[in-house]
Amino acid sequence: MDSLETARVRGDFPLLERTVGGHRLAYLDSGATAQKPTCVIDAEQDFLTRSNAAVHRGAHTLAVEATEVFEASREAVARFVGADTDEIVWTKNATEALNLVAYGFANASAGLGGADAARFRVGPGETIVVTEMEHHANLVPWQQLAARTGARLRWLPLTDDGRLDLSDLDAIVDESTAVLAFTHVSNVLGTINDAARLVDRARQVGALTVLDACQSAAHLPLDLHALDVDFAAFSGHKMLGPTGIGALYGRKELLDALPPVLTGGSMITTVTLEETQFLPAPQRFEAGTQPVAQIVGLAAAVDYLAETGMETVAAHEAAIGEALLAGVRAVPGMRVLGPLDASLRIGTVSFDVEGVHAHDVGQFLDARGVAARVGHHCAQPLHRRYGITASTRVSSAIYTDEQDVEQFLAALAEVRAFFGVAA
Ligand code: PLP
Repeated sequence: MDSLETARVRGDFPLLERTVGGHRLAYLDSGATAQKPTCVIDAEQDFLTRSNAAVHRGAHTLAVEATEVFEASREAVARFVGADTDEIVWTKNATEALNLVAYGFANASAGLGGADAARFRVGPGETIVVTEMEHHANLVPWQQLAARTGARLRWLPLTDDGRLDLSDLDAIVDESTAVLAFTHVSNVLGTINDAARLVDRARQVGALTVLDACQSAAHLPLDLHALDVDFAAFSGHKMLGPTGIGALYGRKELLDALPPVLTGGSMITTVTLEETQFLPAPQRFEAGTQPVAQIVGLAAAVDYLAETGMETVAAHEAAIGEALLAGVRAVPGMRVLGPLDASLRIGTVSFDVEGVHAHDVGQFLDARGVAARVGHHCAQPLHRRYGITASTRVSSAIYTDEQDVEQFLAALAEVRAFFGVAA
């Protein structure tokens, strides 16, 4: 199928050995959260067993060890996404990272951050542009920013076949645009967006760009410097890492000027009763005690992916995606959302089963050991665009194999007959 040794890779993921309802587990919900390799589980356990301490505080051996591994993890994650080490801010997840940018703009617009933060001020007469395919995490914070500042929210629409419609790009992203926030890959459609073209247009009009890299970071080679975005967000748990940890990438000079959102301990240089001076980025955004075990786990996850090679991972998932797409299309009564050309997407396929609600589809698949996601996948505007409220999504990862695809397709072929809908 491809150069990835899938059997060996699957052996690294203990959870994949379990059964569900007596069936082999076909885990096709990696778009929601990925399973974890043993090296990630071990890294967290080793840290907690041997070196646990709060970082950047205290001079004792454990504190020094914990701080070293905390900063080495930042370096590993930065390398993995093509960033400099001090351009990576730890957050709880991508949602928090995206909110951190949007609230940073709001704080600047309210006058915080002084002259340095002037470039983040938005207000009436300016626009914030998103896309119709955004996950709510990259939509709602921008709606909130617009509501707080009087800026206007606009969006790039979708084509019938699930791509961004860029025919009016120059009219929608214009001189009034302060921010262009867009997803690298749609979590529903799997569509890979033309980030270079969007960044290019934003640069022409002086808008800042925010990339939601949640669905690309574990599936495609990612080089944020090469993409030339200003900010980017991703979640550890979708990249084989732990929950509770994600990151915000920002160009260093922007991070140093963006007003912080969470304030308190560990992000300051001098505090008097009247006022506070903040540390430079990334520490100025990392108030409070940090989730060090999760950070160490995320570094193990990106090292694991890097060792396999992201080109290899992408090729493997492209082959899985092609098989999923062709297989779903071959079953009568299935309406696939998104491009029918597999090369335009990652290994994620969402579809509507004619005559059967997505939640029933999900339960039917589960009864056969297939874990798929059903619902609106936190993308209600996208579903509304296609005239539905919910869909079924199968999504792959490094460990997805042909048997997963076959098990899923065999179950899918029966679903409509099971619910009494003519095949
Ligand atoms: N953006 C996209 C494209 C996603 O798929 C997700 C999660 O499903 C998110 C943002 C939010 O990620 P998290 O829930 O980890 O913050």
